[in-house]
Amino acid sequence: MTLTAISFERTVSGDESARHALERRRVELRSALHLYEQVTISSVPRNALIARTRRALADVELALHRCDDISYGTCKRCHRRLAPSILTVRPLADRCWNCTPTDAA
Ligand SMILES: [Zn+2]
Repeated sequence: MTLTAISFERTVSGDESARHALERRRVELRSALHLYEQVTISSVPRNALIARTRRALADVELALHRCDDISYGTCKRCHRRLAPSILTVRPLADRCWNCTPTDAA
């Protein structure tokens, strides 16, 4: 069996609500995690894939919670609305461009 990492960033199509996209993504991640956990061969790549999938699933769950408390689409730092273009490209975004930390130090 070949384990293939699934895409962790998914763009939202124009006719699909963010919530629907997130719920669909949650189903995909749960299925992938179930599949990865069924493989009996222990290996570092498999374990890393499972860990990565669990983190992605947790991110999706947090985004769905933000949908429930209406904070979805709002920067968690400055509380301004995120540009729709950000959410289209990065449906899990929780910060605006100004508040997103950079790697530069
Ligand atoms: Zn911000």
